[in-house]
Amino acid sequence: MRTLRLDDVTLTYLVDGAMAMVKEEFLNGIPASYWAEHPDAVMADGRVAMSAGGLLVRRGDHRVLIDAGYGPARDTTEWAEVNCGALLETLAAVGDSPADIDVLALTHLHIDHTGWAFLPDPGESARPTFPNASYLVSAEELAPHEHGIHPPGSSPVERVIEPLGKVCTTFADGQEVAPGIVAVITPGHSAGHTSYVVTSAQGRQVVVFGDAFHVPAQLTNPGWASRPDVDTERVLTARARITAELEMPDTLGFGCHFGDQAFGRVTRDDAGRPSWTPVPAVALFPTPRTC
Ligand SMILES: [Zn+2]
Repeated sequence: MRTLRLDDVTLTYLVDGAMAMVKEEFLNGIPASYWAEHPDAVMADGRVAMSAGGLLVRRGDHRVLIDAGYGPARDTTEWAEVNCGALLETLAAVGDSPADIDVLALTHLHIDHTGWAFLPDPGESARPTFPNASYLVSAEELAPHEHGIHPPGSSPVERVIEPLGKVCTTFADGQEVAPGIVAVITPGHSAGHTSYVVTSAQGRQVVVFGDAFHVPAQLTNPGWASRPDVDTERVLTARARITAELEMPDTLGFGCHFGDQAFGRVTRDDAGRPSWTPVPAVALFPTPRTC
């Protein structure tokens, strides 16, 4: 679990847990030759390690949480092993409580990004985990669900989608959703997938790009889709837009599935292709869950 200070802003990756992905299933757009040439990108058993969690953005007394992890889950499916559920522990470990969160801003409505948004309330409907937070999601992301369309990988309807529909505020592309945080709608992975650009007092930026990229290799090879992507053409457009943003001066990125390399910048490799380069960030704790 790492944290990074940028002027007046502190960004802390609240790790919820670990996921071990079956690469042929989940990362089915990545050719076998890549893995053969990059044995460092896979675990000893051939699976690909990814993390799940949220990014805590602190500025003065204001706290924004971007995404809410997978939630409590210990599961093995044909495409992944999941061991998650630590996000509230990691939040407490950095000295905050759920009541301290002012804004929960979601990149999209997949199950591994909304897990801690609501707590089941016995006998009643789900209640917000972060009682004082505004819950934000793009209108485009919510729209299919409002029409009864729940694409594969979506959050549970009764536990997340329905309660979210009652409490959330939607926004449009380019809108400032919290002080110094602007939403950039980058659809393709999902209908209204959103990235967030966090700007510090000195104008330094961090692009929080959600699931536009699941693994660093996709920054170098933007045509390599992931299984859940709903529109691969729009993923290409989104990735081009985000990469251009990441190459602006004084700009870093945050990849929520990138494990302990979640904070990085885009550099160009010898062939002139964009490449993910982790930046130094303070290590706070070891990962709270492993697969
Ligand atoms: Zn996703």
